[in-house]
Amino acid sequence: MKERKLLMIPGPIEFTPEVLQAMGQPTTSHLAANFLEAFGQALERLREVFLSPSGQPFIVAGSGTLAMDMAAANLIEPGDRALVVHTGYFSERFAAILERYGATVERVCAPAIGDAPAVEEVAAALERGTYKVMTITQVDTSTGVLADVRALAGLGRQYGTLVVVDGVCSIAGEELRQDEWGVDVALTASQKAIGVPPGLALLVASPRAMETFRRRKTPVANYYADWTEWLPIMEAYQARRPRYFATPAVNLVWALNVSLGQILAEGMDARIARHRRIARSFRAALSALGLRLVPVSPEKAAHTMTAVYYPEGVDSALLEKVQQAGVILAGGLHPEIRTRYFRIGHMGAVNPADLLATVGALEQGLAGLGYRFEPGVGLAAAQAALLEG
Ligand code: PMP
Repeated sequence: MKERKLLMIPGPIEFTPEVLQAMGQPTTSHLAANFLEAFGQALERLREVFLSPSGQPFIVAGSGTLAMDMAAANLIEPGDRALVVHTGYFSERFAAILERYGATVERVCAPAIGDAPAVEEVAAALERGTYKVMTITQVDTSTGVLADVRALAGLGRQYGTLVVVDGVCSIAGEELRQDEWGVDVALTASQKAIGVPPGLALLVASPRAMETFRRRKTPVANYYADWTEWLPIMEAYQARRPRYFATPAVNLVWALNVSLGQILAEGMDARIARHRRIARSFRAALSALGLRLVPVSPEKAAHTMTAVYYPEGVDSALLEKVQQAGVILAGGLHPEIRTRYFRIGHMGAVNPADLLATVGALEQGLAGLGYRFEPGVGLAAAQAALLEG
């Protein structure tokens, strides 16, 4: 029997053979002509994937946390006020990063785990105070909650607040129209819906964000994250000119360029629709199996991943059973409910066959722990939803 396990966690995900092959190309100089071309093309493609023709893209070696760090380090000066739209663990991480650079942070918290703050509540906070920056976690990976970025970014524009979106678990899977919606910084990492092994921090900054950065009165307090160093590098690669600040992750950039090419070949609208269809089908299966989502309503549930409570009588032993059936899922992350739920990633190159394999393995795991259900009921629901389109 094949030993291979299907990796269905919310990042890192499974990558396409073409991307993995690009990783294995001979490493060249970071100043070689073919690398300048690949890096330059990746920057151009990043603008297209973020739907931000006016944005300044940055590709830097590091993880998603570095992309968050970079946004905060370059936009915040000591004493600035920031508003965090709080939907879970990763929203709290952004608050901590903003505070590290001297911001006074106010949080607009979700009324309950699995919920998101009402847009009206965020509007009320913006009405009460003046904020330089507002952060939104588009999909909080700890709760699987999807924030209404479009409406929130509209508020940011209305109140003159820079809008920063943590899209680590969403960009290239969920709809995000950076320019059209007025998002000032959108950021992600390579290992999720972008479809490249871990190691790249990706960020696109609007002209407004770059202008705010240029007007700083104090130096950026983080040496490696400083746009003063990185902007000339990105501009050089865009112009296919060699320039050095810190060695780029050469093979990851090869792979990124291939993956962005695949994403654009599918088309952003088709890609978003595929993620929606797979998420809907997966939720149909969970519902048929009698499992309850962490997000309080389907409209607040992400399409790139799902967070779901263990049913009565089942605990984290389920993950081991599902793995024995061939599929790797993730445990809980939110500190208050960590042991009560688990998470499934369904983003990037994921296809309907992966979804059906996951539901099948989940049924086997549940059955192995004595959970009572009619075998195949989850599979039938997923299949029916897939066939609906
Ligand atoms: N934000 C969100 C929404 C995430 O899901 C993650 C990673 N799970 C991060 C930030 C941090 O990214 P990284 O682990 O790559 O530093």
